[in-house]
Amino acid sequence: MTSAPTPPTPPTPPTPPPSPAPAHEHALVYAEEDLGETPADGFTQQPSPDGRAVVVEGTCPRCHGRTVTRFPVGLPGTGTKGLFDVLTGRGAAAADEDPLTGEVHFCECGHAHPQLPPDAVFVGCGASWRIKP
Ligand SMILES: [Zn+2]
Ligand SMILES: [Zn+2]
Repeated sequence: MTSAPTPPTPPTPPTPPPSPAPAHEHALVYAEEDLGETPADGFTQQPSPDGRAVVVEGTCPRCHGRTVTRFPVGLPGTGTKGLFDVLTGRGAAAADEDPLTGEVHFCECGHAHPQLPPDAVFVGCGASWRIKP
């Protein structure tokens, strides 16, 4: 063997492009955590195809998973909100409420995070938050 030992040349790792959105943390343990108000960064809302709901889409501030939530709208007499409107006489005003900023959002990333309770209403990391108007 006459060949000189080749000096170890550490391969230069390609610098990953800066990703604007952090990866979904699948290993994050489920916890019912109120994150308070968060900026509306990346959250969008659009009418559902049937026009009976507003679909709010965004990234969970806790686990960074993609969460999609339907908020039924324009259904008079359904749900507690309808009853509340009857009692307070502000039905028309409530119809204009913006589900993006007027509702509490829950993580519905669809990933069963560790320790997700079997009776959990939303399949996600358990976080809830409001979006700053
Ligand atoms: Zn989450
Ligand atoms: Zn998640």
